[in-house]
Order: sequence, then structure tokens, then C-alpha cells
Amino acid sequence: MASPKLSVIIPVHNESANIAPLCERLLPILNRVTPAWEVVFVDDGSRDDTLERIREIGRDEPRIGAVSFSRNFGKEIAIAAGLDHARGDAVVIMDADLQHPPEMIETFVERWRDGYLMVYGQRTDRSEETRVKRGFAHLFYRLFARFGEIGLPEGAGDFRLIDRKGVEVLRSLGEKARFSKGLYAWIGFKATGVPFVVEERRFGTSKWSFRKLFRFAFDGMASFSTVPLRIWTYLGFLISFLAIATAIYFMIRTLLFGTDLPGFPSLIVSIMFFSGIQLMSLGIVGEYVGRIFAEVKRRPLYVVAERIGGAAEVSSDTVPDNFRMRRA
Ligand code: UDP
Ligand code: MG
Repeated sequence: MASPKLSVIIPVHNESANIAPLCERLLPILNRVTPAWEVVFVDDGSRDDTLERIREIGRDEPRIGAVSFSRNFGKEIAIAAGLDHARGDAVVIMDADLQHPPEMIETFVERWRDGYLMVYGQRTDRSEETRVKRGFAHLFYRLFARFGEIGLPEGAGDFRLIDRKGVEVLRSLGEKARFSKGLYAWIGFKATGVPFVVEERRFGTSKWSFRKLFRFAFDGMASFSTVPLRIWTYLGFLISFLAIATAIYFMIRTLLFGTDLPGFPSLIVSIMFFSGIQLMSLGIVGEYVGRIFAEVKRRPLYVVAERIGGAAEVSSDTVPDNFRMRRA
């Protein structure tokens, strides 16, 4: 088979019921765009028969392949694996639950042919999510815009087309705490957004818990901003200044009115206050130390259990194999 022009990466985790409806809707669109397409499913440690469903469809359609992880590594890492295995000149990343309308791919490809190296879907409606989640998302984008190294377009997620050039840059990034949204923006290149309305999830439930989302947001912040690290210096200065001012106040008061009672409450309060500050700053340092720890271990980003179809043809020199380093 000639090397494909367009690759579609789909991370899947327990999406058995979505595979068939997704392919039914996706494949005619891909055929309209180019016959030289491939679909790379990344089975992120599904415990249901997702992989079986993919294998069934892949039997009649060799352009559908899969990479299957030995366990659940998370969507971010599944995307990284997809990028390693995709061979197209342009790569589209999308969810399996049909929340990302496949019809958009045609528009993405048009924009790409217009010369954009990155075309992202921009969700115009988050109504299917809870108000709280939406509020937090908005807050996150505000904070990130204020403190992050780079700007993030609001509403832009993983649903996007990336040119081969961008894919190679993304693959060369060695970081383990992968915050893709940040990385997409970090690599730069000529980019444009295309608005789309998020559809309802077809089958199953969202794989993201609130706790996971919070962790994700924190990862994003810590990977692209040093403000959490620096803020404590300013706070430290402020507190020292306040301490000196208080000391002066007490000195003057004692000189003028004498001492009434040795300050037991103020002692306790200040001890508590300062141990609180110390603990918080220790925690922040710990966040970064934890990341350094994760990076120096240099574990492979993921472990492949099996490759199917086109994904199996990718030479193992370019793909990190089990327990081999991601980069030499
Ligand atoms: N997903 C994954 N690994 C995970 C969680 C999710 O590969 O650990 C996949 C999931 O199968 C889906 C996509 O990532 O194709 C988006 O997940 P989901 O729909 O649960 O997220 P949401 O749409 O709620 O943000
Ligand atoms: Mg979804």
C-alpha cells in the first residue's frame, strides 16, 4: 500500500459500542477526501471488546489499524502513540464517541490545503457539560492566558488536523507530563480554528472524572508556567515586611503603655501562620521536584502490546518499542 496522505488517530478506552457507528459515519467522508487514508485506533487498555470490534472491521478494511496498550495509560499518551504510528502527510486527532463530527474533517483538509499547518476545531457550545465544569474550564483558560508561557485558544481541544511537520516536532518533544493542548500551541506554525458544535456522546459515559480534570489542569499550568514557583518569593517578601511592621508596632506600644500580658495567642497564631506558608511552598517545590523525578526516570511513554494493520508496518526504528528509550 502506498503511504497514506491522511491519517486519523482515535484514542479509545472502553468504546466498544461506538466503534461501528463511528466507522460507518467516518469512512465515507474519508473516501471523499482521499482514497489514501488510514485510521489508527489507539486502544488505551480497554477492558471490554473494543479491540475485537476494531479487529473485525480491520479484516475487511486494511486501512484501519490499531495500536493496543498493555494497560490504560491515559488519553494524552494514547495520542502520542497515535502520532508515532500515523504515516499521513496530515494527521487528524478525534474522539471515538462521535462528539467530534467527522464531517469537519473535510473542512480541516480544505484549510490545510490553503496552507495552514494546524487546523483546530473550536467548540462553540459546552452545554452538554455541567455549569461547574464549564466555569472551571473558563477559569482555567483565563489563568493560563494570564500566567502561561503561551496563549491557548479557548474551546480548542484535541480535535484537530496537524501537518506532518508539526507531527514530527510533537514527536521529538520528550516530556512525560504531556499537556497536548499546550504542546500544540507551543510548537507554533500557521494555525487556524474552525468552530463546531459538540454533539452528545453516543454510547457510554465520559472517561474523565472531576479529579482527573483538575489534575490535568494543574499539569498544564505547571508544565507551561513558573508563576506557581515564583509567587512564593513575593509572598515571602510581603510577610517579612509585615512581620517587621508588627514588631515596630509592638515596640512602640510597649514603650508607651508598657506590657500587659506576654503574647501567648499571637505566638501561636504566628507559628501556625508560618508553618502554613512553609508547608505550601514545600508543596509547590514538591510539584516541580516530582516532575523532574518523572523526567529523569526516562521510562518509555507507553508499552505496546500489539500492532494491527498499517500500524504494524511502521518500522521499529522510528517507534519506541517496549522498554526502549523514547529517544536515543
Ligand atoms: N480516552 C482514552 N483514554 C482514557 C480516557 C479517554 O483513550 O483514559 C478516549 C475515549 O475513549 C474517547 C476520548 O479519549 O475516545 C475522549 O474521552 P471522553 O469522551 O471520555 O472525554 P470527554 O469527551 O468527556 O472530554
Ligand atoms: Mg467525549
